[in-house]
Amino acid sequence: MVKILGLGPSGAVLGVALGKATAVERSRRYFKACGEAVPVETPMVSREFVVDKVRRYRFFSGDRLIGEVSYGGPRWYIIDKAAWVEALRSAVGVDDGNDGVVVDARGPYASRGVRLIVAMAYVEGIRREAETVDFIYPPGLTGFFWIFPHGGLYNVGGGFLGVEDPTHLVREFAERLGGRVRLLKGAPLTVMPEVNLGAEGAYRVGEAAGLVYPLTGEGIRPGVISALALAEALKTRRPLEEYRRRVERIVGQIELQKRLLALAARLAAKGGSVSLLADDALLRSYIEEELSARGLFMALARRPGAAARLVAALLRR
Ligand SMILES: Cc1cc2nc3c(=O)[nH]c(=O)nc-3n(C[C@H](O)[C@H](O)[C@H](O)COP(=O)(O)OP(=O)(O)OC[C@H]3O[C@@H](n4cnc5c(N)ncnc54)[C@H](O)[C@@H]3O)c2cc1C
Repeated sequence: MVKILGLGPSGAVLGVALGKATAVERSRRYFKACGEAVPVETPMVSREFVVDKVRRYRFFSGDRLIGEVSYGGPRWYIIDKAAWVEALRSAVGVDDGNDGVVVDARGPYASRGVRLIVAMAYVEGIRREAETVDFIYPPGLTGFFWIFPHGGLYNVGGGFLGVEDPTHLVREFAERLGGRVRLLKGAPLTVMPEVNLGAEGAYRVGEAAGLVYPLTGEGIRPGVISALALAEALKTRRPLEEYRRRVERIVGQIELQKRLLALAARLAAKGGSVSLLADDALLRSYIEEELSARGLFMALARRPGAAARLVAALLRR
């Protein structure tokens, strides 16, 4: 029998995959500040919860457009996350048997590592290009604002290393867009996670395990994948080993992104910016969570001038 602590996306998907579980959840209805964006291939997201689609990404350093990536069809879905999680929760069968295995799925409330508050607002009364998202990197800060379409509304948000609560920054940013803020909310996000999959018999999934991409803040897909991986691993003789094997790729990407985020923060503190390296190939792998050391070296090689300025900034005292 499995006892799941927390029924957000990760815990609820695990419950659905297991069929039955004992669940401990503190909120009656799921609602948490979120950009609500998932890659289209995210398992367990059915189309009825999709409120918008994204196939174009624009990147700005302050007001300056630094890059753009487009796809022939949708690359992300924007979902009604609360309705989706509620539907998953209601599909979890209740099990009152004795608990053997415990799974911590309490999200950032149970994760280890550096957490900060990230804020979002639903904004109405603005018009922008369809199926397009914008990421805006303000000079001097490590982090970004986003503008995501949300079925007629916009989901506008932001989070920054060293800014304890960015709610006021998000409000000002949303108001500068000329819109009316309908809801403004912040929630913790584990930006520098210490990945911890738990121990035999006491596992962790999703953000509670530190499975969040540091550079983008994407936590839904890794949460879903980890829950499905654990459900499969629990059928084997060595669940922890099998679970670790199934999420190994995600963990590797997270560790690389942690190092890059630390580098970006060091550069920002010295007046430099990694946005100097941005080109289409690098931005595409950023969107696809496919950044690699090789891809970065290639980007450095394509832009030797920018690479030299980055090294100079890093060496600056
Ligand atoms: C502002 C913001 C924007 C984001 N945007 C995106 C995005 O666009 N795309 C994306 O992929 N990710 C995004 N993320 C990250 C994403 O929201 C999380 O990583 C994801 O929800 C993690 O899912 P989870 O189920 O692991 O944890 P959670 O969604 O945090 O769920 C944890 C559950 O545990 C419950 N719980 C907590 N403590 C207890 C307790 N003591 N007892 C019982 N229950 C408890 C909570 O009520 C909740 O239901 C964003 C995060 C923030 C803060």
